[in-house]
Amino acid sequence: MSKPEGHGTIVASAGVTDDPTYRGVAPPLWASDTFEWDGPEDKPDYDYSRTVSPNRDLLARAIAELEGGKHCAVTNSGQSAALLALLQLEPGATVLAPHDCYGGTYRLLQGLERKGLVRPLFVDQNDDDMFAMALQQDVRLVWLESPSNPLLRLVPIAQRCAQAKSVGALTICDNTLLTPCRQQPLKLGADLVLHSTTKAINGHNDLFGGALISNDDGLAEQIAWWANAAGLSGSAYDSWQTLRGMRTLPLRVARQEETALKLAQWLEGHPQVAAVHYPGLESFPQRALVEAQQSGPGFMVSFRVNGSVALFAKAPELITLASSLGGFATLVCTPASMTHRGMPPEAQAEAGITPDLIRMSVGLEDADDLIGDLSRGFAAL
Ligand code: PLP
Repeated sequence: MSKPEGHGTIVASAGVTDDPTYRGVAPPLWASDTFEWDGPEDKPDYDYSRTVSPNRDLLARAIAELEGGKHCAVTNSGQSAALLALLQLEPGATVLAPHDCYGGTYRLLQGLERKGLVRPLFVDQNDDDMFAMALQQDVRLVWLESPSNPLLRLVPIAQRCAQAKSVGALTICDNTLLTPCRQQPLKLGADLVLHSTTKAINGHNDLFGGALISNDDGLAEQIAWWANAAGLSGSAYDSWQTLRGMRTLPLRVARQEETALKLAQWLEGHPQVAAVHYPGLESFPQRALVEAQQSGPGFMVSFRVNGSVALFAKAPELITLASSLGGFATLVCTPASMTHRGMPPEAQAEAGITPDLIRMSVGLEDADDLIGDLSRGFAAL
């Protein structure tokens, strides 16, 4: 049978006939850390779970198919997927990263810089001149994040990948915010795609995981080698659970996105809102780019309030003040003091991560209830 391409089909059919013992429809959890050998020279396909795991392989195949990629390394967090990507570089290699990237990416790059392992250049990747100038500094890896977290700024992925290739640099795109259901960076020229599967791919706020997807056999082999050597792979249990959560990914994304648009439109008309950042709004400044590289605007909205974010964020009863995203429950956070607190204040200011900013990950609740709850936040200002 040819490989399915429809996202619904991929998530519904993954591993359905993979239980050789009882022919269960839902794939079992092969929790064993180790597997029997026939003889000292007869290494089985699955020998030790840090190296290879049937549950991890099932999940990896499904994520690779969703991204339109050949290979996927499933890791134990989004950050270990990031580290795994950076381990592919020579010591001291220059990494060109967005000045408004996810705070954990910023922290990791800076930590590795302090040890002399990478040389990060943080630039506004929407500034053509700055990007082109930075690229001349022997850049080995271009780190893309589109849309950015928390400001939902888009980067022209195909253009930046082509520029990176022209100087022999690899590109990685963090696709966590949109999921493969809304953007497929490999098709736009990226060499690697990163996911924090902790977020929408699992979707149930109950585990950590990551994924690193590629099309290049050699690169994938090196990635698998390092995942094993450094112990960065995801556990069998988390892989099993993530595949279970992923069964509903296309449905969840569609519903969350529909609600996000309603909330963004409502927020845009609110007198206590200074600005709304959401790629689905008519007023979004990069609409053409949304059309060119995304198949939908996603479920993340950020907005600036006129008043105290602390008062606003504490008032809702349904919406929770917490720092993850992509799950079933709507969460808000104040990036300046929460997700991006690892970024020095000057870097936050330069990236536009100001104290009045609220990031909202829209979940599966009903839109009207969420609007009622946001109103409670505004009433508290
Ligand atoms: N990338 C993005 C865009 C994120 O938002 C996060 C976490 O919030 C990560 C990567 C890191 O993922 P994890 O928390 O699974 O390590």
